[in-house]
Amino acid sequence: ALMITSECINCDVCEPECPNQAISMGDEFYVIDPARCTECVGHFNEPQCVQVCPVECIPINPWHTETREQLQAKYEQLQAAA
Ligand code: SF4
Ligand code: SF4
Repeated sequence: ALMITSECINCDVCEPECPNQAISMGDEFYVIDPARCTECVGHFNEPQCVQVCPVECIPINPWHTETREQLQAKYEQLQAAA
């Protein structure tokens, strides 16, 4: 999963781009729910939030590093639950 750092300027552009509804407003800036972020695996070749973020504040979440296979499995679980 990816994460949003405190450098976020709350510009709102990433939230509607997420195919998994993983992004929401947190207490001070936007946050990514690691249970819903597939790094866009299953939907797009590149993380859509990273593509649109003007301040490049969306790195890999070091507490939630995953293989491509794990991300694909999460995508399939989210699709099954939808
Ligand atoms: Fe959503 Fe993709 Fe960004 Fe993860 S990488 S938060 S799934 S847009
Ligand atoms: Fe924050 Fe970047 Fe999302 Fe804008 S696009 S709300 S700066 S994470």
